[in-house]
Amino acid sequence: MVIVMKPNAPQSEIHRIIEKVKSLGCRIHVSQGENYCLLGLVGHTEKIDLSQLQANEHVDRVIRVQHPFKLVNRLFHPEDTVLDIEGVKVGGGNNVYIAGPCAVESEEQLLTIATAVKEAGAHMLRGGAYKPRTSPYSFQGLEEEGLKIMERVKFETGLPIVTEVMSPDTVEIVASYADVLQIGARNMQNFPLLKAVGETDKPVLLKRGLSATIEEWLMAAEYIMAEGNKKVILCERGIRTFETYTRNTLDLSAVPAVKELSHLPIIVDPSHAAGKWRMVEPLSKAAIAVGADGLIVEVHHQPELAVSDGAQSLKPEKFEKLMKAVRQIAAINEVTRC
Ligand code: PEP
Ligand code: MN
Repeated sequence: MVIVMKPNAPQSEIHRIIEKVKSLGCRIHVSQGENYCLLGLVGHTEKIDLSQLQANEHVDRVIRVQHPFKLVNRLFHPEDTVLDIEGVKVGGGNNVYIAGPCAVESEEQLLTIATAVKEAGAHMLRGGAYKPRTSPYSFQGLEEEGLKIMERVKFETGLPIVTEVMSPDTVEIVASYADVLQIGARNMQNFPLLKAVGETDKPVLLKRGLSATIEEWLMAAEYIMAEGNKKVILCERGIRTFETYTRNTLDLSAVPAVKELSHLPIIVDPSHAAGKWRMVEPLSKAAIAVGADGLIVEVHHQPELAVSDGAQSLKPEKFEKLMKAVRQIAAINEVTRC
């Protein structure tokens, strides 16, 4: 971080800032020019309150050289993080394919879908028991009964469970059934929830917020990691733009951007991005082509009867076709990586 002092800033004020910065454990290099005095800060600058400095009338500008995230930053962890979730590897060239319904509706429904997606090659089963619905009148999920159904279907199929947790007070119960805790887009900046999942040892699938910048999203991951839980998977699921033809706009460039900035695995959710089942396969292919570490896809055997997100849900045979296509693209990535 570089602090540019205003011309004629009093020496006493420069001295006060230097002492404050030193007391926070940072080293400081002072360059006194003809007009400007520059203070170069080295060390744990994340502890410095940028807005306090900017509020100082003698400070001209504060220039951040490094990103504000540390644990998430590839700079301090150059190799890809690879997670092992019940034997399924995620990251570092290991692609994970997660599929299942938007919401758990019944044991029969979940088992039918789980059996089909497993057959098509999915590694994990998704399903919501606690649903973040835009309308309070929409189906809200089966809650603990939904978790119990997932546990039984996991027992039948062997597929690890990915499910959303919506509030800090349900983290314990959801974590007692789930293999991966999903943080939904609407909760990406629910800081008490991020801290609560950060205190567990369960892998966390952190979806990008509806209007979150990449930096805000990585800072949300930093919250989880700062509590001690290093098992974070990022998920790009489309962001809100002026376009209304699709439900959201899939930000494919987030994949290479995150790969550059962070060592964490990043997967793509083409279903919530598009909102239309016809677009799910093309977006999935694009996501794998740009280097995503996997996909999370909504699949339903009777989308026209689904209690939520039927319009974006693939029928099992369409998911099977998608899997064949993305695997071929992943194989090309493998060859070009070498
Ligand atoms: C979901 O995965 O069912 C979901 C609600 O996703 P998002 O939080 O991305 O909207
Ligand atoms: Mn959904």
